[in-house]
Amino acid sequence: MSRIAYVNGQYREMRDATVNIEDRGYQFADGVYEVCEVRNGQIVDFPKHMKRLQRSLSELRIAMPMPLASLQIVVHEVIRRNRVGYGIVYLQVTRGVSRRDHAFPIKPVKPAVVVTARNLSFTKNQETAAHGIGVITVPENRWPRVDIKSVSLLPNVLAKQQARENGAYEAWFVDAEGLVTEGSSSNAWIVTKDGRVVTRSAEQGILAGITRSVLTDAMAALQVKFEERPFTPQEAYEAAEAFVTASSQIVMPVVRIDGRNIGNGTPGAVSKRLREEFHRFSSFS
Ligand code: PMP
Repeated sequence: MSRIAYVNGQYREMRDATVNIEDRGYQFADGVYEVCEVRNGQIVDFPKHMKRLQRSLSELRIAMPMPLASLQIVVHEVIRRNRVGYGIVYLQVTRGVSRRDHAFPIKPVKPAVVVTARNLSFTKNQETAAHGIGVITVPENRWPRVDIKSVSLLPNVLAKQQARENGAYEAWFVDAEGLVTEGSSSNAWIVTKDGRVVTRSAEQGILAGITRSVLTDAMAALQVKFEERPFTPQEAYEAAEAFVTASSQIVMPVVRIDGRNIGNGTPGAVSKRLREEFHRFSSFS
């Protein structure tokens, strides 16, 4: 079965799904995106993703390309046409097509919309979680507006590649003060030896992850002790547990940071529990 993408009003086979070379997303990375988890063909936490999308767009002064209800229909249709049971849906909005010039187009153009979806292997994801992943730390070198979920991801791409080349799965950025900000495509967490779950505040230096936000609600309901503050790589090395969160991975245990085992080098009990309980606290549309 060939995959189907939605591109600017049309559902097309992937090989025919093309955009204009003067799309500002292509030339300037002038656009934003969202990735949502799909479970049983349903979108996980869609309203929260749409709220963040609207915020990202408004920060960049790009208009919402269509009403939310229409966008939801398109996203569902892409999921249906690709027969995605478990997987992800990707939604991208760029400023649109215009003759190349750094400043915004003088005559407003229509934002360009692309939606794709694909199946992931649930079994493989569970296996990865059962083993846990390795992380490396790298210097933070991104712009300060990482709160905008922009498609401009070059530092994230390079950090992830560095992780892969070092036999790790994710890279954690460390800011000029020596504090972990977040992963190249995930939020970063540790669990202290006295059972407190720690992650940096979403106010500064990180993307306000949707998984992060649902997990903080879950922890409150489950009465898991939670501290919102930054931590250093050293504190992470000495932590009882560590994990990352992202829509495509939910709660993914971290068992190694910069080559050092975390805890006993296997996924910790708190991380495993939060992974198991997560979807009780998420919404499905
Ligand atoms: N930080 C960054 C840099 C990311 O790319 C992601 C994944 N989109 C996250 C955090 C996690 O966000 P979410 O839980 O909304 O997927």
